[in-house]
Amino acid sequence: MENRIFNFGAGPCTLPLPVLQQAQAELLCLPGTGMSVLEISHRNKKYIEIYESAIRNLRTLLNIPSNYQVLFLQGGATLQFTMVAQNFLRGTGKSAGYFNTGSWGTAAIKEAKKEGPVVTVWNGKESNFNRIPKANEWQMDENFAYLHFTSNETIGGVEWQTEPSAGDVPLVCDSSSDFMARPIDVSKYALIYAGAQKNAAPAGVTIVIIRDDMLAKVPENLPVMLDYKIQADKESAYNTPPVFQIYMFNLVTQWLLNEIGGLSNMYAINQQKANLLYSAIDQSGGFYEGHATSDSRSIMNVTWRMPSEELQDLFAKEAKANGMAELKGHRSVGGMRASIYNAMTVAGCQTLADFMRDFQRRHG
Ligand SMILES: *Cc1c(COP(=O)(O)O)cnc(C)c1O
Repeated sequence: MENRIFNFGAGPCTLPLPVLQQAQAELLCLPGTGMSVLEISHRNKKYIEIYESAIRNLRTLLNIPSNYQVLFLQGGATLQFTMVAQNFLRGTGKSAGYFNTGSWGTAAIKEAKKEGPVVTVWNGKESNFNRIPKANEWQMDENFAYLHFTSNETIGGVEWQTEPSAGDVPLVCDSSSDFMARPIDVSKYALIYAGAQKNAAPAGVTIVIIRDDMLAKVPENLPVMLDYKIQADKESAYNTPPVFQIYMFNLVTQWLLNEIGGLSNMYAINQQKANLLYSAIDQSGGFYEGHATSDSRSIMNVTWRMPSEELQDLFAKEAKANGMAELKGHRSVGGMRASIYNAMTVAGCQTLADFMRDFQRRHG
């Protein structure tokens, strides 16, 4: 096998090695079936077991109360921008509150506006999306159909440290890029959605955690694939679900439970990893200039700039030659970005932090 490098890509991205190894070992023949997981039917008993195990594991990891359902949908987090607004904003006569904390918040608002009125309760654009608002910087409206926020902005690298308080208004969260990165109190949320390809599985499945009272609000006559109620009633198998992605999600949740020991442990490891990189930034005397303000820093996507484009290009090139890939920032914002999701190891972050110091010594 060719050597695996440290992949700091933002998504699709690195997956836990033990998960890939198990998938490899089982690829030709899923135990007990005589078939590959790529070949089995979503009505196969073995698949149903995998599906049920994935939900059970997620319920354990996030301590999900019994009045919530777990759905596996398609269309990515991007389709959730539409579905949330079609199911819970369209035709209600209400407006929805949205935080605009970056590129993904902006994209969610754009889609919601097609379905009904949107109030941007806080907009970080003026500060170039480098921070999360403080509690006294935005206004709640008890009449909102729901309040939507993006728990981690994957491109800017800013993350909510705790969720905004929505009172009795349903709180909806795009948690795509910090899903299962730390414990959260699910009971504060009405709906959480996450595209899989950051922390959960390969691209192609979206995990939705939805409270029962929200399912009761779904209007009649939505297209079946966009109707949360139908998807819940049919246990995410109204049509053919992405069997392989759900299989991989099950392996990732098993890894989190059995090898990591749950989300408190995962959170401690993630903080340790992030600290390695933010220390390298903070101790560089400005050579590495962090994008996020220190109270809004993401433990999943670390973003920074360097004194020139040339140095940034050279950094990416030398890093690649040293076994670290995908360190350029998103094309829309430039700069550098290291995505250090659950599956990135402490060793990977230590290697990058050492390289940052070495690079500065040679080029600073
Ligand atoms: C990646 C990402 C998305 C888009 O996900 P798709 O699955 O590509 O639609 C949305 N929101 C956040 C926070 C993301 O990180």
